[in-house]
Amino acid sequence: MIYVGNWKMNQSFEGAQKFLQSLKKRVSEEKQKSYIILSPAVLFGLMKDEFSGTNFNWGGQNCFYKNEGPYTGENSPQLMYEMGARYVLVGHSERRLLFGETHEMILEKAHIIVQNKMTPILCVGESLEQRSQFQNVLKSQLTGFSNISPLMVAYEPVWAIGSGKIPNNLQIQSALSVIKEAVPQSTVLYGGSVNSQVFRTLLCKELEGFLIGKASLNVDSFILE
Ligand code: PEP
Repeated sequence: MIYVGNWKMNQSFEGAQKFLQSLKKRVSEEKQKSYIILSPAVLFGLMKDEFSGTNFNWGGQNCFYKNEGPYTGENSPQLMYEMGARYVLVGHSERRLLFGETHEMILEKAHIIVQNKMTPILCVGESLEQRSQFQNVLKSQLTGFSNISPLMVAYEPVWAIGSGKIPNNLQIQSALSVIKEAVPQSTVLYGGSVNSQVFRTLLCKELEGFLIGKASLNVDSFILE
């Protein structure tokens, strides 16, 4: 299983450093490859310092769809790769809703991430109002992604993010089948209120890992055992 921690805009410098050092101590070497931390861009230097030479992976929560140019405030995917990032989250519902990211922008970002030898982690998922048509929502969010490889897709129903509500096993399975049909080359994760109390109930056939928000902020709750 792959465990992806999305810190969002959280962590202090000292808190992040303590987290990374404690994760390195707690996780055995053969398991390190399955942990990925998605950190705020201002902490990329720390990620590089703490994770270089280890099997831990890390990445960003967003990037721009070009490598360089007059784009004040944006992050270059090429530079992220140079720093040691190997994954970039794209299409998180917070970016779609709060920052107006369109499907076209998300697809362009996924292309440039792959060109820079990193893996996009694409978030897809329906809102509560769209629940009855979740298949159509997922299919439209996955349009154009069938030739993106490598690719990870996280099924994150918007209503489950940070809410403590989780879909039942059947709901997850049907969403994962839609995803696997549209992008068979992808590695599929589930995200939305995952923690050590509930993760076992979410396990199902196609599921290869979890995208974890709140519970990824401290090591005890991030390590799902
Ligand atoms: C997320 O926002 O990607 C997420 C999974 O958050 P949480 O685990 O807090 O629901």
